[in-house]
Amino acid sequence: MYVFRSLSLLFLTVAACTSPPQGGEDVRISVLDGFIREALFHGRAYDRLEELCTVAPHRLSASTDAAAAIEWARATMEKEGFENIRLEPCVIPRWVRGATEQLFVVEPKEHAGERLAILALGGSIATPPAGLEADVIQVQNFEELTRRAEEARGKLVLFNRPMDSRLVDPFQAYRGAVNQRAIGASKAAAVGAVGAICRSMTTRLDNVPHTGGMRYAKRVPRIPSAACSTEAAERIAGWIDAGKRVRLRMVLNCREEDPVGSFNVIGELTGWEKPEEIVVVGGHLDAWDVGQGAHDDGAGCVQSIEAVSLVMRLDQRPRRTLRCVLFMNEENGTGGARAYAAAHGAEHHVLAIESDRGGFTPRGFTSDARGEVFDILQSLVELQKRTGAEKLISGGGGVDISPLAASHVPLVGYLPDAQRYFDLHHSASDTLDEVNERELALGAAAIASLAWLVADLPETLPPNPPR
Ligand SMILES: [Zn+2]
Repeated sequence: MYVFRSLSLLFLTVAACTSPPQGGEDVRISVLDGFIREALFHGRAYDRLEELCTVAPHRLSASTDAAAAIEWARATMEKEGFENIRLEPCVIPRWVRGATEQLFVVEPKEHAGERLAILALGGSIATPPAGLEADVIQVQNFEELTRRAEEARGKLVLFNRPMDSRLVDPFQAYRGAVNQRAIGASKAAAVGAVGAICRSMTTRLDNVPHTGGMRYAKRVPRIPSAACSTEAAERIAGWIDAGKRVRLRMVLNCREEDPVGSFNVIGELTGWEKPEEIVVVGGHLDAWDVGQGAHDDGAGCVQSIEAVSLVMRLDQRPRRTLRCVLFMNEENGTGGARAYAAAHGAEHHVLAIESDRGGFTPRGFTSDARGEVFDILQSLVELQKRTGAEKLISGGGGVDISPLAASHVPLVGYLPDAQRYFDLHHSASDTLDEVNERELALGAAAIASLAWLVADLPETLPPNPPR
């Protein structure tokens, strides 16, 4: 251990002497190696994550924990010595989970009184105080719901299409199922249903429900909406398949209040040559109110802070400004993302990188970059592949940076190995002990590397060409 640390110190000294870099490939690779060593030997990301999960574990937008997370972020950026630290205002919804979330079996009679695990979906209205009791109809998709519209009237609709576990990409599986959660309630209400329950968005079979955002359509009655655990969904399906009548009673006392003011937290390392040109690295500070939001998106926040900090600790101030943006309200409204785009959309953003797919082992990056811009980014990802983030594939950058696409800013999403992400996502299982310190650190080094390479290019990365 001592030998390695000594080598690391020697290396850091060498790396520090190279600033500002001359752009040669060897020099750049040695700087990137420095990020990796510093992240692994003296990394702060995991300790920062532990702090965040301790001071603000349930940081749903507009909650007291969200306010604590904002203060933690500001204070952490100060400790790191970031420049131009500020809180920037945004307006966000305030939805409050109730103390009561229950789903009882009424029929089949032999299971009457048993409880099934649910969580209200963010944005849902409450049930009447005594609960809402109705027969259950199970559907796999909206087409089946439309076909069976008559049957669904007056019922509780169970949307029970699983995430497709045959797909290699778990995000693809998520995207293929999540419409049931996001808009299922209004689809059900449109055919006269009285409540909606969706199977949790996970491929895992367990008794842990996963919450998430939902939104009501205009001109359709609002009905209560919850997610049940995959085990609960399987039990209900089993009764229905056996020809039994299923009748349930759901009690939710969540509520939506008036929107409130909140903040994005921003800090920078100003560029030495072209400070007005900006590379954003960011994640979202809010999280669902169950678990600790350790992967979603505490990991992205501490990686974004650590990425800028690594560049500072190695004394590698780049030509352009690195801006760490911790967005508020990604989960249920994107108020922070819209406020950032409104305030800064006209600035010269060279690139925006978002980390919001968990803090797992680095695999690469996704990007909406096209043509020459994609090729340049790919050549830079090549340089830093020792972190394991070695591929650049076409895809989105992330929810919070997505409004910048309108200004032709190339967007990049950090891509870890997310095979276990949806085991935890939006559930009580998303806790610090599910995050691996080395995986988190390597991800921070990968993000630091790509951000620094782009921020220090001799020629500015061109804007993303129109589609
Ligand atoms: Zn997230």
